[in-house]
Amino acid sequence: MASEPLSIKNADKSPIAIAIHGGAGVIKKSRFTPEKEEAYRAKLTEAIDKGYSVLNRGGTSLDAITAAINVLENSPFFNAGKGAVYTHDETHELDASIMDGKTRQAGAVAGVKRIENPINLARLVMEESVHVMLSGNGAEQFALNQGIPLIDNKHFDTKSRYKSLQRAKEKMKKSQQSKDYQAAHKALPFEYKVGTVGAVALDQYGNIAAGTSTGGMTNKRFGRIGDSPVIGAGTFAENESCAVSATGHGEYFIRYNVAADICARVKYQGKSIVQAGDEVINGVLKPIGGTGGVIIIDQQGNIAMPFNTEGMYRASKTTQDKAYVAIFSDE
Ligand code: ASP
Repeated sequence: MASEPLSIKNADKSPIAIAIHGGAGVIKKSRFTPEKEEAYRAKLTEAIDKGYSVLNRGGTSLDAITAAINVLENSPFFNAGKGAVYTHDETHELDASIMDGKTRQAGAVAGVKRIENPINLARLVMEESVHVMLSGNGAEQFALNQGIPLIDNKHFDTKSRYKSLQRAKEKMKKSQQSKDYQAAHKALPFEYKVGTVGAVALDQYGNIAAGTSTGGMTNKRFGRIGDSPVIGAGTFAENESCAVSATGHGEYFIRYNVAADICARVKYQGKSIVQAGDEVINGVLKPIGGTGGVIIIDQQGNIAMPFNTEGMYRASKTTQDKAYVAIFSDE
C-alpha cells in the first residue's frame, strides 16, 4: 500500500520547482472510469502548469503556490473551496495556511464559511495582519477590511459531497456506537475524512514556500479544525530545511507535528527530504494508523511525495518538460 518516495533531482543553476497534491486516501484505479481519471489528471496538470508558469516568469514561490492552489480550490474535484466536504449541519467550513520559507512568516484561517479562496485570505493574514491565525467570523471581518468579498456558503455545494455526507451519516447511524458521536465518527472509514489540496515551490531567488487549503472532514461537528491551518502540522516552510504541505487524518498530523517534524529531521539530522518524509509518513504515522501523505521540496529543488494510502493526487514540475502527474501508488 505504501508508495516509494519519489525524488526528482534538479540540476539547474537557479532551479525552480513546484509540487502539488489534491489529497491522499482510498484512491483505487477500480473506482475510476477512464474519463474520470483523465479529468483529474487534466486538472492536476492545469494547476501544476499554472504554478510553474508563475515561477518561470520570475514570480515568487508564494505567488506560484497561491496560483496553483487557486486552480484546485476552484475545482469541484477536490476537498477545498468549491467541492469542499459538508459539515454535520450541511454547511462548509474551510481551513487554509501558508508559510514563507525565507522569513518564516505564516498566515492561516480556520472555520471560514464565506471565503471563495481561503488560501488568499491566509496569505493576507500573513502579509497584512499582525497575527498568524484568524478564525470564523473574525477572519471574515478581516477579509472584508481587506476588500475580499464574502460569498454565499452554498457556492461550495456539490451533489457528490452531499451524497458522501448522507452516506457518512448512514454509516454512523448503523455503527455499533451509534449513540456516541465520538465513537461512531472514529469508526467512520478513512475515505470520509480527507481530500485537501496543497502546494510547495522553490523560486529562482532560492526561496521555498508551502500552502494548504481544505474543507476538512466530512460530517465534522463542533467547529472541528484539522491540521491544514496549523503551522507545523499541515504546513511548514523554512529555507534551511524544507517546505511541506500535508494531507491526511488531521488529528494525527496535529499530534505528531508532521510538517515541522520532517523539516526538523532535515535540519538537525542532515537527512534528505526523501528519507525524512519516508520516516515520518511510513515509519511514524503508518504504524499508529495515521493515514495520509505530504509533498516536500528543498532549496535545491528536490521533491519528495511520500504517502501511506492507496493513492494521492499529485504532480510536480522541475523543468520546462512535461509535468509528472500521478494518482495511484504504482506510478
Ligand atoms: N488533513 C485534513 C483535515 O484533517 C483533511 C485532508 O487532508 O484531506 O482536515
